[in-house]
Amino acid sequence: MHNYDVVIIGSGLGGLACGAILSKNGYKVCVLEKNKQIGGCLQTFSRNKTVFDSGVHYVGGLAPGQNLYQVFKYLGIMDKLDLKRLDMDCFDRIAFHNDPKEYKMAQGYEHFIQGLLQDFPGEGKALREYCHMLRHICDKFPLYNLRMGGFEEKESVLGIDAAEFINSLSSNRRLTEVLAANNALYAGVEGKTPMYVHALVLNSYIESSWKCVNGGSQIGKWLARGILENGGTILKHQQVKRIVADGPAVQYVETTAGKRFTAKHFISNVHPAVTLDMLESDAIRQAYRTRIKSLQNSNSALMVNAVLKPGMFPHMNYNYYYHSADSVWGSHDYTPDTWPGSYAMFISPEPKDHRFANALSIMSYMHISEVEQWKDTFNTVSNETSRGADYEAFKREKAERLLDMVEQRFPVLRQCIHSYYVATPLSFRDYIGTADGSMYGIMKDSTDPLRTFISPRTKLSNLYLTGQNLNMHGILGVTMSALVTSAELLDFEKLLHEIKTA
Ligand SMILES: Cc1cc2nc3c(=O)[nH]c(=O)nc-3n(C[C@H](O)[C@H](O)[C@H](O)COP(=O)(O)OP(=O)(O)OC[C@H]3O[C@@H](n4cnc5c(N)ncnc54)[C@H](O)[C@@H]3O)c2cc1C
Repeated sequence: MHNYDVVIIGSGLGGLACGAILSKNGYKVCVLEKNKQIGGCLQTFSRNKTVFDSGVHYVGGLAPGQNLYQVFKYLGIMDKLDLKRLDMDCFDRIAFHNDPKEYKMAQGYEHFIQGLLQDFPGEGKALREYCHMLRHICDKFPLYNLRMGGFEEKESVLGIDAAEFINSLSSNRRLTEVLAANNALYAGVEGKTPMYVHALVLNSYIESSWKCVNGGSQIGKWLARGILENGGTILKHQQVKRIVADGPAVQYVETTAGKRFTAKHFISNVHPAVTLDMLESDAIRQAYRTRIKSLQNSNSALMVNAVLKPGMFPHMNYNYYYHSADSVWGSHDYTPDTWPGSYAMFISPEPKDHRFANALSIMSYMHISEVEQWKDTFNTVSNETSRGADYEAFKREKAERLLDMVEQRFPVLRQCIHSYYVATPLSFRDYIGTADGSMYGIMKDSTDPLRTFISPRTKLSNLYLTGQNLNMHGILGVTMSALVTSAELLDFEKLLHEIKTA
């Protein structure tokens, strides 16, 4: 006797979106979350009454008729979200060390081209070729366009390397650097990151860029409410420890407290390598385990979350990317002396007076090896324990260096900061549950693209995977992955039709 139709391990966006889709289609779902808060990267936290996002700084594809808008409309949450559109003339502003100019990325393809032509007047051909390539690639991904289609449609574009393609567009290095400057959006690596990753992400933001007012946890909140209204269950403080199979199917999952959950189907929203560690089954071949475990994850980050004094720091309705490293692709490979080579800064308006900002989140790459000595300490967003005075000193030293860099462009910065809080790769590891604090999970690879595509199916007939490690990371990518996973149990064509006509 099964308690549920579907047990979902993890309440990140992937788990919640699967839960919302399947419960809307009559499945009795149960979502198990290890943390006190649902949402994974959607979680927000508050310091000095100021709300910070952990992993949703801006979202694309949310204008009427666009892909994410349609899925969220189908799930009944679109009209509930409190969103603010970023500046039409500039959703991302790009700056470089030793270059007083700042470059603007505008929303809408023609607007994007015209905006950059002001700084690069002779580069119309390169800009048009770039935009054409983004759209050409996106057309090849059927699901991105909410239609049925085969894998073979996209095969021809999977091997294009992002840095190589962008660099080939023009001999004007500043232009090609501008076009790739927000590659922290996907933790881009030269010679590895495929152009399709760049295209799917950038296209969504060029089409429309939005901020979640008061944080992205609202996406999780409304999806969870939908699950509950559809008769589903969401249980927090339930860390799954074992996924136990007998022969070709999973029988139950067991939590660290020893509680067992049975179901007809199981979906894991947890990183595939971690899922495999929990899975007790002879049906999974060692070669599959080895392949999944050998895939490299994207880099982690250090994030300074600063609470600002009221009425002091002007609000900028765009994101800010700054590079001091020699190449915009180069700041992964930092040394203690060259860190931070770049940063991305996300700005939130004061709720009652949007002329001013109330919070800044400043992010720079950081390898988990930097915090190796504290790896045996654990923390969650809602259950903070100290990792010790030396860890606090480490965070402070890094944060001050990052603030020094930001201050080069914003000299008033330190005077405006009321207080700041620092997240390291260990914070991301503990909030999200990846072993290395990776921001976006498995890194895609243009040199061997098929190896980094993970199927939602496993060798077990009733165990599926979902989340950012499948197709793509990000709010859009993970929502699309949830469609693919849910389609394993639903009529995909009918589902897409209902989404398109929602
Ligand atoms: C710093 C940062 C900034 C980002 N910025 C953006 C952005 O601006 N825009 C954007 O679109 N995307 C952004 N992203 C990416 C985006 O947030 C993620 O791709 C997406 O939210 C991941 O969703 P997920 O469901 O795959 O996984 P997760 O959010 O990681 O969820 C996994 C869930 O599983 C739970 N879990 C893990 N192990 C267990 C277990 N054993 N038992 C039970 N539960 C378990 C975790 O607690 C978590 O709740 C950012 C990510 C980061 C880290």
